[in-house]
Amino acid sequence: MNWLRNFMMGRYGVDKLNIALLVFSMILTFISSITDLAILLYISYIPLILCIYRIFSRNTNARIQENYKFLKFYNPAEAWVKKKLNIVKGSKTHKYFECPNCKQTVRVPKRKGKVAITCPKCSTKFTKNT
Ligand SMILES: [Zn+2]
Repeated sequence: MNWLRNFMMGRYGVDKLNIALLVFSMILTFISSITDLAILLYISYIPLILCIYRIFSRNTNARIQENYKFLKFYNPAEAWVKKKLNIVKGSKTHKYFECPNCKQTVRVPKRKGKVAITCPKCSTKFTKNT
């Protein structure tokens, strides 16, 4: 294992952009296999080769900059998906309302009748039926 450690010395390694490239490549491969579009299989090699190139790259500053630019778009998208998944998970026991003033999402337990809600962000009071 020492040869591997020596080989990887100074190289960039794996980050979120590399994982995203790998997943994108796998999705393209999967789509090409179920639709018989051979061109997608060849296109799927592009992100895969890019991913391998980035892992073994010695220009770590450039790779960090690329990952930083990617995360500027990825992090808000991931936060949005997590928020929507939490709403789906909690929809059996809770109801979600939007504050009429600041659009903050407020979670309230279900089946409590008419409830006076105070927004935790801007303290606006509004009533809703749960
Ligand atoms: Zn509010």
